[in-house]
Amino acid sequence: MVTMEIKNFTGKNIAQDQKFIDTHVHLCFNTPIFKRIASQNKITFSLDALEMEMDKNGIEKAVAIGIDMVSNRLISEIARKSERFIPVFGINLENKSNFRFYFDNAKKMLRDGKISGLKIYLGYDHFYANSRVWEPFYRLASEYQVPVVFHTGDTWDAMRKKEFLKYSQPLAIDEVAVNHPDIKFLLAHAGNPWIDEAAEILFKNPNCYADISGWFFEERNPALLGLMRRKLVDLVTVGGSNKVLFGTDWPLVSFHSYIRLVTGLFKPAVLKKIAYSNAKRFWSAKD
Ligand SMILES: [Zn+2]
Repeated sequence: MVTMEIKNFTGKNIAQDQKFIDTHVHLCFNTPIFKRIASQNKITFSLDALEMEMDKNGIEKAVAIGIDMVSNRLISEIARKSERFIPVFGINLENKSNFRFYFDNAKKMLRDGKISGLKIYLGYDHFYANSRVWEPFYRLASEYQVPVVFHTGDTWDAMRKKEFLKYSQPLAIDEVAVNHPDIKFLLAHAGNPWIDEAAEILFKNPNCYADISGWFFEERNPALLGLMRRKLVDLVTVGGSNKVLFGTDWPLVSFHSYIRLVTGLFKPAVLKKIAYSNAKRFWSAKD
């Protein structure tokens, strides 16, 4: 347990005594665009620096999400050496002919116990969540009982060549959730800016959850902090306090700025769920 003094959005100092699981970080230490954004955010982008930052901010564990096969191999290697990281396999179908390559690797890594989930990049890849192209991956998730994370909402145009928001709007996930009741789904970024839509999908489907990562870049747009805090309260009210998971998108944002986002908004029991226990349950194989 870490105790620290941080300022909430009104600038008031408040005592922070909460441990966190960050359900959304990227450890692609060799990817130029991530290196560049980390340096813009004045974040030292290395595993050692990350662990130090996690300690400083009370972050016990982090879910490391791959973006391609290079980073998938890297995160599974990091997670093999440290229990602090949960590796999630990123599927990249920017080039559709990569399907076999990603499917075979996902299957092998699941079979070998090297990964704990799959991530589908809706919007970056040009298929809706309910497209037949993903069905073989849903079958894998069901067979190995691992969650599926979806990128939802706004896209980061530096990451791939072309993105289309129609694919990353959350609504199509409803059909997938209904048709695959045995799989847990996580809507990364809670569909921002379609947070109401994501909240309804959480409310309706017992197997759907959302993380709050990547909502804002406080360093560049401080006005967004107040707006996103209001949206977070709406998401928890409609979606349910058991369904919302803390996540940052580090190194796109700092841990500190994200802890400011959630601080002072909820009763301690609710904050504990969002910061820690929902993720603990979600990523545990038994639940
Ligand atoms: Zn991300």
